Amino acid sequence: MIDFTQKTFGVISLGCDKNRVDSEKMLQLIRVKGCTLTDDEEQANVLIINTCAFLNQARKEAIETIVSCSAERSDKLEKIVVTGCLPQKFIGEIYEGLPEVDVFLGIDDYGSLFDALEKSYEGDRVNMVACGQSLVTDRRVLTTPCHYAYLKIADGCNNFCTYCLIPSIRGRYRSYPMEDLLSEAAGLGEISELILVAQDVTRYGIDLYEKKYLVNFLKNLTKLDNIKSVRLLYCYPDMIDDELIAEIRDNPKIVKYMDIPLQHSEDRVLKLMNRRGSRQGYLELIEKLRQSIDGLAIRSTFITGFPSETEEECDSMCDFLRLAKLTNCGFFAYSREVGTPSYKLKGQIPYGVKRRRVKKLYEVQSEISSAYLDGFINKSVKVLCDGIDYDRGCFVGRAYFSAPEIDGKVYFNAADAVQGEWYEVNIVSHDGYDMFGATGDYCDE
Ligand code: SF4
Repeated sequence: MIDFTQKTFGVISLGCDKNRVDSEKMLQLIRVKGCTLTDDEEQANVLIINTCAFLNQARKEAIETIVSCSAERSDKLEKIVVTGCLPQKFIGEIYEGLPEVDVFLGIDDYGSLFDALEKSYEGDRVNMVACGQSLVTDRRVLTTPCHYAYLKIADGCNNFCTYCLIPSIRGRYRSYPMEDLLSEAAGLGEISELILVAQDVTRYGIDLYEKKYLVNFLKNLTKLDNIKSVRLLYCYPDMIDDELIAEIRDNPKIVKYMDIPLQHSEDRVLKLMNRRGSRQGYLELIEKLRQSIDGLAIRSTFITGFPSETEEECDSMCDFLRLAKLTNCGFFAYSREVGTPSYKLKGQIPYGVKRRRVKKLYEVQSEISSAYLDGFINKSVKVLCDGIDYDRGCFVGRAYFSAPEIDGKVYFNAADAVQGEWYEVNIVSHDGYDMFGATGDYCDE
């Protein structure tokens, strides 16, 4: 038997915030076992790389990380463990191709981490992908700054967008039981902002409770004293109903912000993408949300360069942005993924054209965002302090219309500011993305 309490573990988490939550649960498993945790890879005896494999680019990053960790391995490194989406979907390809990896585990196999490592220390390479020993824990080691955290409320997806590998990697939508999630949230300590994530948060509960349960869950979640506010990411447009709108409007703990990935604006392309909805329907939804929820910020993401998308359709998407006036947007070039239905579609668009269209969309959105931010100049904005930006020599935080890591920031001077607290910041300027200002008590002498 290996005495794991003598081992030091490091975890590299690649990909999205949902993967980050899985990594945090794995860190908790390791901590409970009595092992030492390190964020310095050179000190690790066991290095776990939790991978993403949703896009070509993510797979490339995962493989490069594995190869470089192996090439630069310190004398202390004994085992490399690769977990998550990459082995889950591509174990057949990577088992032989990555001989430097000692242990492979899939997305639902984290519970077998120590069994797999025991076998590996006996001398075998170990493939326990799809062994079905999932990790059940309502505790995590947070890797975010301690005042905000993500809460993953479900895994998998039933939407089957034709460009997306996620349903084939992560399987059908599975909500986590509400009681478990409430217990997990209660155990996070004092959290200024809890960010709900899933491939689609609006579908929460249908598989478990046979009806939409997100509103019920939000009502219970926001009763927890340690959770000061809740932000929603990944809302599927046609799942947003009146009950959810009313809850966001009336519940003071829910941030007046919704992330609604629309992916495209043109009906023909949306149909090819197997996205439910239409240009007109999306504009009506945005209008209804704005009418219903005062000051609501809406973020979205769009894909351009989908097979057969014409220049005119991209221009129409620009017009849609001018009409919708969304608060924040991310634009991505379509990625042709083997195994997705859209891989076989005719009319694949050259890479250079896709990049040019992304640039065009960003230029349009930049004008819209600038006009939006102009409205805050010489006004006071409530900002959640995320900490100190040492490069700029000031504090950094976010207004309610910005989620961490994906939206703009507020850089501000203050006599003092504490991470996780809210401050009134007088905005003096912006650069079209970030804002700059100072608290009233700041004295520049
Ligand atoms: S909603 Fe579509 S894009 Fe998002 S995870 Fe599901 S299938 Fe993929």
